[in-house]
Amino acid sequence: MEIKVVHNVLKANDEFAAQTRALLREKGVLTVNLISSPGSGKTTLLERTVEALHEDWSLAVIEGDLATTRDAERIAHYGIPALQINTDGGCHLDAHLVQRCVRDLDLDRLDLLFIENVGNLVCPVGFDLGEDYKVGIMSVAEGDDKAAKYPRLFREAALVVLNKIDLLPYVDFDVDRFRADVAAINANVPVLEMSCRTGEGIEAWLEWLRSGVENKSDGREGS
Ligand code: MG
Ligand code: ZN
Repeated sequence: MEIKVVHNVLKANDEFAAQTRALLREKGVLTVNLISSPGSGKTTLLERTVEALHEDWSLAVIEGDLATTRDAERIAHYGIPALQINTDGGCHLDAHLVQRCVRDLDLDRLDLLFIENVGNLVCPVGFDLGEDYKVGIMSVAEGDDKAAKYPRLFREAALVVLNKIDLLPYVDFDVDRFRADVAAINANVPVLEMSCRTGEGIEAWLEWLRSGVENKSDGREGS
């Protein structure tokens, strides 16, 4: 009986996700779902990204957190739409919550939508939100064994960001070991080393986003 309930929840989620994905395809909006544990630097990555891109493109961010509007306030500071979802204890975003936010956005003028998932390496990966890409973010402060221990995120991610590399002199994080673990799970996924604090490595991330946005708008229905 329990198995059936879980199955139905995921089936309903997948239906909402498919609707959202079709809508975002029609409007040509590249959508990126950022997944990581708490404190890896997702919101700081978004701040650096918005600073770099908001004059060229129309951006929006959906922030998922258990409580507070702090992350949405950080993003709204840059003058772009920032919608906060509080899950009231829920440990992941689901496609129904996200679709309600997506329908509030002006999709006709939007180029790029970020969804910052609830900080959690486990169940956010299991809930399709209608995104184009999942991006896994790790910081070197978390330990180099996380890809091996939480393989599903690294298997499904289109890109992995390894953040806080400015801390490498102070922590026992073996970058080669981490890269080998990721490659064993997902041989083709790029791993970008980055420091959102110093700005090192950000340019490769921006390039990845630029090519994604260009491909998505080329594929817009009717264009
Ligand atoms: Mg955050
Ligand atoms: Zn969860």
